[in-house]
Amino acid sequence: MTHTGIPHLISDVRGGHRLTGPEALLLMNAQGRDILRVATAADEMREQRVGNVVTYVRNQNLHVTNICKNLCGFCGFGRNAGDEGVYCCDKVAIQAQARLAYERNVTEICLLSGVHPAFTLDTFVDLLHWIHEAAPGVHIHAFSPDEVAHVAEKNGCSTRDVLLLLQAEGLGTLQGTAAEILVDSVREVICPRKVRTADWVRIIKESHGIGLRSTATIMYGSYEAAKDQIEHLNILREIQNETHGFTELVTLPYVHTNTPLYQQGIARPGPTGREDILMIAVSRLFLDNIDSIQVAWGKVGLKMTQLALLAGANDLAGTMFTDDVTGDAGASGSDYLDPKDMERIVSDLGRTLKQRTTLYEIV
Ligand code: SF4
Repeated sequence: MTHTGIPHLISDVRGGHRLTGPEALLLMNAQGRDILRVATAADEMREQRVGNVVTYVRNQNLHVTNICKNLCGFCGFGRNAGDEGVYCCDKVAIQAQARLAYERNVTEICLLSGVHPAFTLDTFVDLLHWIHEAAPGVHIHAFSPDEVAHVAEKNGCSTRDVLLLLQAEGLGTLQGTAAEILVDSVREVICPRKVRTADWVRIIKESHGIGLRSTATIMYGSYEAAKDQIEHLNILREIQNETHGFTELVTLPYVHTNTPLYQQGIARPGPTGREDILMIAVSRLFLDNIDSIQVAWGKVGLKMTQLALLAGANDLAGTMFTDDVTGDAGASGSDYLDPKDMERIVSDLGRTLKQRTTLYEIV
């Protein structure tokens, strides 16, 4: 099939054509009115796939430590052990955060943490036990493939064994973070100490293979080019073809202000509004096997969140209650979003807001 431009390509997609990588790249580079054409096609696709319901999860982030072995250039949160302002929570502090989450009626606790060089598999199992004790019945969404690889190495066991043990000890879903951009030449620059692409893919497939589902994520707008974004989305689509283990795509725009990569002039100052809209829209059109496309209100702001809901997004992520990772990188207003404020932007579009669980059951 040959295409003579974005309008023709969109009409083929409406007719059921599955986008190829080069075609998705053409859409990702859209300019002018074509941006709105791509967004409209994605909005129609959203309606066909998931209807007019917009979902969110009542969740809370739980910060374990900001000490991190990786010190990724795009991050303003991770620190060396000797740096000012470092912390590492003990059992009492972890359980206090978990109890608070429980009292707030969350259905999910999400661990946000640096990859502490001294953490082992035992640390992770302790964390799961402490949280379950303080917040019984709450789903724990935690640990990235990079953290799984780290403790596997520390304990001298396989990553699959780590995943099996974490699952047995109460991990609900694995975080599909540490993906950033799954192109090694980009990873060398933005996160050289994290697992390489092949290892990330292997660990995610192992996780899905044992029935431990995960999110898929993309961190865009730092150093990568549009073709890298598409290569990344293509890797996610191929994994999903094989495993069907991803629950959603979480789109994470780079928050640049306090990060070394930006301060050194290596990364651009985050994505533009055009890029935010096209990331949502192209993800919706290209990832025809992932139902939920999530917009990160804490990173793009409420008004852009509403526009993203018109460009293919159907999920508002969580209420959060604290997000030091985004805040330390220089964003404001990223801590908590009241479902009433979600309701306002959703009903304003003529759509319906519903609370969901981590695994997309309506509450
Ligand atoms: S992004 Fe994660 S792994 Fe990288 S420095 Fe920040 S906390 Fe550490």
